[in-house]
Amino acid sequence: MYPWLRRDWQTLLDVAHAGRLGHAWLLLGDDGLGKEQLADALAALHLCQHPTADGACGQCHACQLLDKSHHPDFNRIGREGKSIGVDPVREVCRRLNESAQLGLGKVLIVEQAERMTEAAANALLKTLEEPPGNSLIVLLTSQASRLLPTILSRCNKHHCLQPAEEVTLSWLQGQGIMATPSQVRLCQGAPLRVKAYLEEGSDAMRRTLLEAVVSLRREPTRLPEVASAMATDLEHTIPWLQLLINDVLKCQAGCGVSQLAMPDLDSQLHELAELCSCEQLLDSQRDLVALRERCQPGQLVNPSIHIQQWLSRWL
Ligand SMILES: [Zn+2]
Repeated sequence: MYPWLRRDWQTLLDVAHAGRLGHAWLLLGDDGLGKEQLADALAALHLCQHPTADGACGQCHACQLLDKSHHPDFNRIGREGKSIGVDPVREVCRRLNESAQLGLGKVLIVEQAERMTEAAANALLKTLEEPPGNSLIVLLTSQASRLLPTILSRCNKHHCLQPAEEVTLSWLQGQGIMATPSQVRLCQGAPLRVKAYLEEGSDAMRRTLLEAVVSLRREPTRLPEVASAMATDLEHTIPWLQLLINDVLKCQAGCGVSQLAMPDLDSQLHELAELCSCEQLLDSQRDLVALRERCQPGQLVNPSIHIQQWLSRWL
């Protein structure tokens, strides 16, 4: 278990040992906190033939089958694809309605549950209303606001919180990854996101792209090239631009380097703080929020043009 999840696990274990686990749980928290590990531990506890005070025994036939991904009463959906459609949900609900092959209980884990289509959510709702036999349904989400209120109201909820910065830094160090506090802040304090971010080399790309954005004031002809580079990965680049503007506003307000999300761009941030008015920055920030809303997957036909418009307006 990840060190920052141990307290969450103990809380859930206490509920289970008190016999109050019920049939449905919603685990909430940012991506990159490892909520999946908690869901797996709950599943293992529910299916284990000889559960212990710490959770599943890890030794019994059920635990071994689960470990090899061969447990017939365990179901998981939501890891792949852009959305979770009604067909896979109907199929797992049908399986939950059959009797448990090992006779102990059944489990369904729905990862990234906010990606369920409305039809899929409604199909799941029927099962959540009348959970068959000894079944446990665990939903995971980072965006509870995108779930149907009727789904939310039928689940017990547990919020996973981001760990303290020192916990993340020391865990990363144990993984052989030397991260800086600013890299942790850039990934909203989620340890697994920091790990992926650094392993993908995204931090170097962030620096290069944002340096290019700042240089547009001096080299406006680079606008199409910079816009097209930003448009290739809007999921990352728009939040970077938002942090950039926030940091420039902080510089204007006289904040020190330690209060910036991106202290490594200190000189560029101060350059923009000198050049831009506060109103201009606030307008840009507002436009960026609107652009981010429109950039949900599949909604924007030509993101490069939109990002170019945004860049040209505030430069
Ligand atoms: Zn076991």
